[in-house]
Amino acid sequence: MSEAPVGGKLPPLREVIAKYGLNASKALGQNFLFDGQLLARIAAVPGDLRDAEVLEVGPGPGGLTRALLAAGARVTAIERDRRCIPALAELGEAWPGKLRVIEGDALDVDAPSLFEGRPHIVSNLPYNVGTALLVGWLTAAWQPWWQSCTLMFQKEVADRIVAAANDDAYGRLAVLSQWRSSARVAMPVHRSAFTPPPKVMSAVVHLVPVEAPAGVDVKVLERLTAAAFGQRRKMLRQSLKGVPGALDALERIGVEATRRAETVSVAEFVELAREVSRPSL
Ligand code: SAM
Repeated sequence: MSEAPVGGKLPPLREVIAKYGLNASKALGQNFLFDGQLLARIAAVPGDLRDAEVLEVGPGPGGLTRALLAAGARVTAIERDRRCIPALAELGEAWPGKLRVIEGDALDVDAPSLFEGRPHIVSNLPYNVGTALLVGWLTAAWQPWWQSCTLMFQKEVADRIVAAANDDAYGRLAVLSQWRSSARVAMPVHRSAFTPPPKVMSAVVHLVPVEAPAGVDVKVLERLTAAAFGQRRKMLRQSLKGVPGALDALERIGVEATRRAETVSVAEFVELAREVSRPSL
């Protein structure tokens, strides 16, 4: 595995780990990346980052942070593990004025208030909080406060984000992700790229927000998907029974009530939500 020269004269990441005693904590979801070429490829996913604002959650010893800074970004990094802060301070010295480190739990930090413009989010997420963070970012007000998300997930979660109707992985996360953004897998990442290697494979997902579909009440869509996927093996006429107006709306848009949630595309869920949201005459 190469440690390509991101960060100029900075010491190799493995030395940083040894110097600051950053032995990986499982509880904090710490699986570090050291391969400079891989890190540079991840940092390239959002496009040109020169002078762009980037939010990174969980910089750890700073491998991805280096790649983002080397790509010209201005990085705000939120890290929960106090042991990493001195290692990150060294990066701040190497790129003066380009790195802001916030010590804290990303689930508690009011991230939008940290930016004047709309940042890109680029992160090798801690797996234990990754989905919760993504759902929070996806359910924020339209238009979202972020420009794009480039996020490492366990492959199984990445599959659930990009799945199409009739895929095994298709469910609420796919509908939520895809009605708010264009979501794609940018690259698979082998488990051996991490130190320590996790048990499962990973993938980087790239999400770019899309325009809000007209006339859809977010709460209605959430209610419909929760009900439909809460009983995913049941026919819609059963699973949607408790959502007022849903069965009539199904008929109006020509979706058979005998279908199951897993066969209903994102576009059909959006149409259904629009129909249910429509004020009655
Ligand atoms: N970015 C580094 C890399 O790619 O090598 C480290 C990634 S590691 C998978 C996840 C990082 O998130 C760790 O540094 C961990 O301490 C941090 N972390 C875990 N939970 C966090 C939380 N709730 N808020 C902020 N950071 C967290």
